[in-house]
Amino acid sequence: MRVRENGGVRRWTRGAVLAGLAFAATVAVGDRVSLGSRLGALGLHELDVPGDPSRAVFSNRWHQVEVEANSRRILHDGVAVYLNGPVLRDGDTWSVLGVDWTEGVGFPWIATPVPVRRKRDLVLLDPGHGGGDKGAISQRIEEDRVTLDVAKRIGKILAAQGVTVKYTRDRDRELTLTDRSAMARKLAPDAFVSIHVNATGDRGVEGVEVFVMTSPGYASTVGGKADAAGYDGNRNRVLNIRLAHSVLDNLVQYTGAEDRGVKRARFAVLKGSPVPAVLVEMGFMTNPEEESRLISRNYRDQVAMGVARGILSYLTTARKPPDPVN
Ligand SMILES: [Zn+2]
Repeated sequence: MRVRENGGVRRWTRGAVLAGLAFAATVAVGDRVSLGSRLGALGLHELDVPGDPSRAVFSNRWHQVEVEANSRRILHDGVAVYLNGPVLRDGDTWSVLGVDWTEGVGFPWIATPVPVRRKRDLVLLDPGHGGGDKGAISQRIEEDRVTLDVAKRIGKILAAQGVTVKYTRDRDRELTLTDRSAMARKLAPDAFVSIHVNATGDRGVEGVEVFVMTSPGYASTVGGKADAAGYDGNRNRVLNIRLAHSVLDNLVQYTGAEDRGVKRARFAVLKGSPVPAVLVEMGFMTNPEEESRLISRNYRDQVAMGVARGILSYLTTARKPPDPVN
C-alpha cells in the first residue's frame, strides 16, 4: 500500500507534534502513517541495519524503535510490543496503521488527558482467580495462591512509596470477572493491574508478557475475531500502552525473565475497565525452571519489585509532558 503523509508539504513543528492526536486524523491517509515522517519529526532518525533490508532502527539519545517488515512485533526501547497490524515497507518508506502509531509506537510523545490527580495515587491490584476457581494448576503450584501472594508483595512496595493500594480480593475467595471490573469502575484507580500465572502445553515455553486491551476493529495478538466495537477498556488508548510498556520493561529488568512482549487481548477485566489497565502474566508454571523460580520467595519478590517499579514509573511519567524532541 502506498503511503502518503501530506505529500511532504507540511512543515513539522514542535507544536504540531505535541498536538498529538489532534493532527492524527489529517495525516492518516490510507489508514497508515509513515514512521520516517513521524519519528523523524521527533528527532529519531533512521539507521540502516547492515545486510538486512527487512529491518530498520529509528533512534535519538533517549529512544530507539526497531521494526521488521511484515511483522507486528517491534522493539520499543528494547521492550517487545505487538502492534494490531504489521509494519510495512514500501521502497524507503516504513509505515504502521494509524491506530498503531497511537497505541504502539508514538505513545511516549502523544499528549493525552490524564485523570485529575488525587493527594495520593490509587492502584487497584487484581489477584487472578480464587475460591473455587484455582486458575492453572501444576504439581507444585496453584495459580490463585501465587497471584494473591505476589499481589500483596506488590502492594507492600507501592504502599511504602505513598500509594494507596486496594485489592479486588485480599484473601482466598471467588470473584466473577464482572465483579473485578465493577470495582475498577467504582474506585476509578489511577491504574488497574491484574496478576496471573501462565500455562501452556509446550514445556519449553517461558517468560513474561503483559496484555492491554485490543484496539476496535482488530484481532487480538493470539488470534480470534476482529471485533469492531469499542469498549470501556478502549478509552485509555495511550495510557494503557504506557502502563504496559513500563511494567514489562521493569519486570524483565528485575527478573531477567524472557520478554514475550506487550500483547493485545479482549480479556474481560481489560474490556470492562474504564481506567488504565493491564494484565500481567508473570511466568509459565508449565516450564520446569520457571515453575521452580515461581515457587521461591526470592523470585516472587523480584517479580513484585518489577511490577511495582513499573507502576510507580508510569504514575510519574504519565503525568509529565511528552518527552523532548531532538
Ligand atoms: Zn490466570
